[in-house]
Amino acid sequence: MSLINCPECGKERVSDSAASCPSCGFGIRGYYEAKKNNDPQRREAINKLTNTMKNISTKKQVKEEEEQQKLRDWEIREELLNELNRKRLYCPVCGSGNVSRISTTGRLISVLTVGFASSKIGKQYMCKICKHKW
Ligand SMILES: [Zn+2]
Ligand SMILES: [Zn+2]
Repeated sequence: MSLINCPECGKERVSDSAASCPSCGFGIRGYYEAKKNNDPQRREAINKLTNTMKNISTKKQVKEEEEQQKLRDWEIREELLNELNRKRLYCPVCGSGNVSRISTTGRLISVLTVGFASSKIGKQYMCKICKHKW
């Protein structure tokens, strides 16, 4: 933050972070923020910094991405299993075929979520219509 002259009315010693000029109401902060963002040197500096950050984190990220990819593949398999199960499963309560397999991930999260913990454990399927689990 620094004191500047209002670019609109020329009033002296106005804070460049003031929302508006106390004399003429000019939107000073917005004006300087826009100016800063348009400054090519600043933009270049930001780009450089972003690239450096990317390079630093790339090595770490590769492993993380591998893990995430594995997880995604696994989730896709779970989804496919859901699809397969849905075709031959029917809810024992309402008879609806709109049944989903409660994934291991879901159960794991349930265990971690207090309150939900007991409701899903040991149950593999959930009817999407009546919410019955079995
Ligand atoms: Zn002004
Ligand atoms: Zn049902």
